[in-house]
Amino acid sequence: MSDFLQACRELIGASHVLTAAADTAGYLTDQRGRFTGKALAVLKPGTTDEVAGVVRLCAAHRIPIVPQGGNTGLVLGSVPDASGDAVLLSLTRLNRIRAVDPINNTMTVEAGCILEHVQQAAAAAQRLFPLSLAAQGSCTIGGNLSTNAGGTGVLRYGNTRELCLGLEVVTADGDVMSSLRGLRKDNTGYDLRDLFIGAEGTLGVVTAAVLKLFPQPKAQVTALLALDTPDQALRVLELAQAQCGAALTGFELMSDLCLQLVIRHFPPLRLPFNQASPQYLLLELSDSESEAHASAMLESVVGAALEQELITDAVVAASIAQSKSLWLLRENISMAQAHEGKNIKHDISVPISRIGEFIRVTDRLLQAASPGCRMVTFGHLGDGNLHYNVSPPAGVSDVSFITAQAEINRVVHDSVDQFGGSISAEHGLGALKREEILRYKSPTELKLMRSIKQALDPHNLMNPGKVL
Ligand code: ZN
Repeated sequence: MSDFLQACRELIGASHVLTAAADTAGYLTDQRGRFTGKALAVLKPGTTDEVAGVVRLCAAHRIPIVPQGGNTGLVLGSVPDASGDAVLLSLTRLNRIRAVDPINNTMTVEAGCILEHVQQAAAAAQRLFPLSLAAQGSCTIGGNLSTNAGGTGVLRYGNTRELCLGLEVVTADGDVMSSLRGLRKDNTGYDLRDLFIGAEGTLGVVTAAVLKLFPQPKAQVTALLALDTPDQALRVLELAQAQCGAALTGFELMSDLCLQLVIRHFPPLRLPFNQASPQYLLLELSDSESEAHASAMLESVVGAALEQELITDAVVAASIAQSKSLWLLRENISMAQAHEGKNIKHDISVPISRIGEFIRVTDRLLQAASPGCRMVTFGHLGDGNLHYNVSPPAGVSDVSFITAQAEINRVVHDSVDQFGGSISAEHGLGALKREEILRYKSPTELKLMRSIKQALDPHNLMNPGKVL
């Protein structure tokens, strides 16, 4: 093993081969602090060629590789297991924006670029890169691609998969595959790019990508609507889509408890209504004409929703600052729930039309299984994706609640399955849901996935124990 580490030092420089516990600790624990793995070393190559060299060395020594970007994942996909056999391959030094092409509306970026830096580089070229999610200040685009991340812009712009035109990937053999040509049309056989997107590093290592850019909107306007039920929220969605078309760029549902927790744990934030309501909708429009045009469109939607008695109250943000504070109510829900104590998270999707019924049925099943449990239900209603999170009943200890986790997951995931949904809408499978998915994916799908894994990574060295 000392041969291997020495070869790594020669390849990428001794200062980029970390073995001391103090240096590696930050890479080995997952973002929520649930699991700490072990690694032979943390390797930090600085170029694609160095990544390829490291992968070839690992292949020769049969050493498993766990690729990692910003380590903000939620499903234990980017930390090694407890064996200590693997190396952790950090991509964070591959952080260059290689090119921006405003006419082709593309940018070519390396995997370790922080998402927020990618957004800023697009803005500097008067373009929009629309992927937007809570971890954007620390997650990397390589991780976003490897998990096919979703976020709050999916309704209008799609998941990360839809935002990528080409990839550079180091294969399990240590070869470099590049499709960084920025083509919008290329029907020349199997789509290898799409195979690596969402594969969570189990088929190869993403080192760079060509991303799609969009015109920057001239105006963005936001409203918070108060209403009684998710079914009414779906009717507001229909109304907003009919009136606004592609201008509708955000449509987030939040239950009353979500906002109560945010207000409790983030004191400057407050609810802009005189009284509480069972549900809230955060609605965002992006407009290519003007602020006035956007506001008129938003007020027309809100007016129609009030008239049809779909909503009971509404606040239209009058300034960018007010719009930001409305978004903060949404963005702080996860943190507020964490401050409240341990909780059990579900990242699920069902057909949009069935969301109301899903919530009613599953809430009832959960109350039977765990009487008094508190539902922190929020998410991307326009995508059929809910963060259907469960907090313990008031007064129940975190410990006894977490021991019921398997039972609670079973209730939720079986219900999701009944509704034709998915148990992982935007977070991936990682090690956390690897066993769980066996219950819900068809034998044919699993067989095909295993065939692909076997063909591309026959020695099972790429992020083993994740996804499959
Ligand atoms: Zn989300």
